[in-house]
Parts: sequence; C-alpha cells; structure tokens
Amino acid sequence: MPESPRPLDLVPHRRYNPLLREWILVSPQRTQRPWQGETTKPNTAPGVHYDPTCYLCPGNARSGGVRNPQYTSVFAFDNDFPALLPDAPEGVNTNPSPLLVAEPERGRCRVLCFHPDHSLTLARMQVADITRVIEAWTAETASLGEQPWINHVQIFENRGAMMGASNPHPHCQIWATEHIPDEPLRELASQQAYQDEHGSCLLCDYLRTELQHPEARIVVDNDHFVALVPYWAIWPFETLVLPRRHLGSFTDLTPAEQEALAAILKAVTTRYDNLFQVSFPYTMGFHQRPTHGQAHDAMHFHAHFYPPLLRSAEIRKFMVGFEMLGMPQRDLTAETAAARLRSLPDKHYAD
Ligand SMILES: [Zn+2]
Ligand SMILES: [Zn+2]
Ligand SMILES: [Zn+2]
Repeated sequence: MPESPRPLDLVPHRRYNPLLREWILVSPQRTQRPWQGETTKPNTAPGVHYDPTCYLCPGNARSGGVRNPQYTSVFAFDNDFPALLPDAPEGVNTNPSPLLVAEPERGRCRVLCFHPDHSLTLARMQVADITRVIEAWTAETASLGEQPWINHVQIFENRGAMMGASNPHPHCQIWATEHIPDEPLRELASQQAYQDEHGSCLLCDYLRTELQHPEARIVVDNDHFVALVPYWAIWPFETLVLPRRHLGSFTDLTPAEQEALAAILKAVTTRYDNLFQVSFPYTMGFHQRPTHGQAHDAMHFHAHFYPPLLRSAEIRKFMVGFEMLGMPQRDLTAETAAARLRSLPDKHYAD
C-alpha cells in the first residue's frame, strides 16, 4: 500500500525560519498549475489591444475553463491557481521539533485586470481609468477585509518579464491572508514604536522632513500625494508614494485622493518608462492597515515601487553576494536617482 502523503506536501502553510525569525509561505498545491508564461507565449508586440491567447483579455477562456466576461473597465476574479486557500488545512500543527515549525495559512488570491486593452500599462492609461482601478482596490480591501478570518490585504503588481510577470496584460494580484505577512508586520511595528516614542507618525514626520528640501529626493507631487526616492532606498530607482494626509487604508481615501493617487501613479510610471525609453519593469504594492479591526493609528498608508533596472533597459541590479549574505548595497545615491527621475518629462516617450 502506498504511504499516505504528509499534509505538508499538499497544503498551503507557512514555515518558521528561526535564524532570521521570519516566515516562509509554502504553496505545494501550486506546482500543478500550468506555467502560462512559457506554454502560451503571450503576444508582446506593442499595440496589440486584444490577444486571443491571453487568459486575461475579455471573452477569453482561462486555464480552469472559465470564460472571462466582455468586461469594459476593471475585472476581478479568484486566481485559478491560488497560492492560498480559504479552508484551513488540517494536520499542519504536528511539528516534530521546536526547530521544525509549520502553521496552517489560509488566504484568498484574487486577480484584478486594470483594463480590457491588452496593450496598456499604468503609464499609458488615462487617469480616469486608473481611478477605476483604485476604486476596485478599495472595494476589494473592504470586501476581503470584512471576512473575519482575513486580517491583511496585500495588493501588488509585477510588471515585466524581468520581474517574473507571465502576462503583459495590465493586472495585479491581491493576496488576502489570515496572518499579517512579515514585511508589513515589521513596518507596522516600526511605526507603532515611533509613535509610542515621539507621539507622532513616522511617515508624516518623514514626509515633513523631505518637504523641507524638495530638491533632494522628491520626484513628483500633487495636492494629495508625494512620490520620492526614500533616503534608505535599496533598489536603484526605488520610490515611495505617500499621502500628505495621515490615513491608513484604501478605504480612508476621499474621491479627490483616489484621483490624485491615480495621477501620481501615472506620473511615476511615466517617468520610469521615460528613463530608459522602455516599458519599465517593477514590483509595486501598497501597505495598508491590517483588516482585523484594531485601530492601528500609527499606520500611514503608502505604496512602494521596486524596479530592478540600473543603467539601461538591459542592465539590472542583482541582490547577490554580500547583499544576500550581508546587507543591501547601492552605488547610485538616492539623491541622484531622484534628480534623474525628476528631470524626466511628464509626457510618455511613446506619445
Ligand atoms: Zn490580454
Ligand atoms: Zn502619518
Ligand atoms: Zn511599506
């Protein structure tokens, strides 16, 4: 008789790294998913508004056999091959040693198409259309966060093949989890500790410091948002997008702030594209208040852009060697990166 497989081989869970005191999400059920990037070779020729082989284009069939509606604006659905599942797997807590620690992890993975047009990116979309995306991020945050077992909603976009994005269709992912992931949890703790010590918000104070010298690291700003290269940036052209007002979540944004966020996302991504005259790859995402109902007043909503390119469309920064084993290192200063991005036109090079 074949030995019955252990639950950890089949179910999503997280494992604890006692050396770094971090968690690692493990999703073994995902190995069954077809790798769309290699099997279907999406048509990446510029100006292709509809790709019959793209599983995100309106009206097309997805891997699971479900057909997308003929959507005309944004379109959200549950990922057909999610990294996390809503049902708590059983049997994960049978840890054989205090050093072999695993926990069940539950979650929901959603996909949000930004626009029906396959050829677009945030940089090439109209501000009004990006505002629809922000409204959808707000609605997803609210509806996922309402579920009592979901405590954190992580919205992120991987843009470009260099970042592992398997499909150029403009879209993002939304992973809603039972546990707050380590990265936002660490930032949350820092913001709470700062507030406890100073009685004010870390990122409000940081933004005020940057606004005193806007020629140093600020890239672009508008009535409600500021985009800057943070003093402590790791990636060459990393940016941080901050609301001027202290707010904690998509669900706190006013309509005017939603529109201003749309405008600043377009302004930042346009400058990125203009930098090397290429559709600029990046991972972008938002950190917002956990959804488990506690106040988290110290949390200041923000977006991170982490782009890998360094000197040209081909030359990317790798985090290897000393950076993997020691600490991150950069040559280009944050101030130089900000000056270069700031000097670029608002108008997209391809317009
Ligand atoms: Zn498409
Ligand atoms: Zn603040
Ligand atoms: Zn953050």
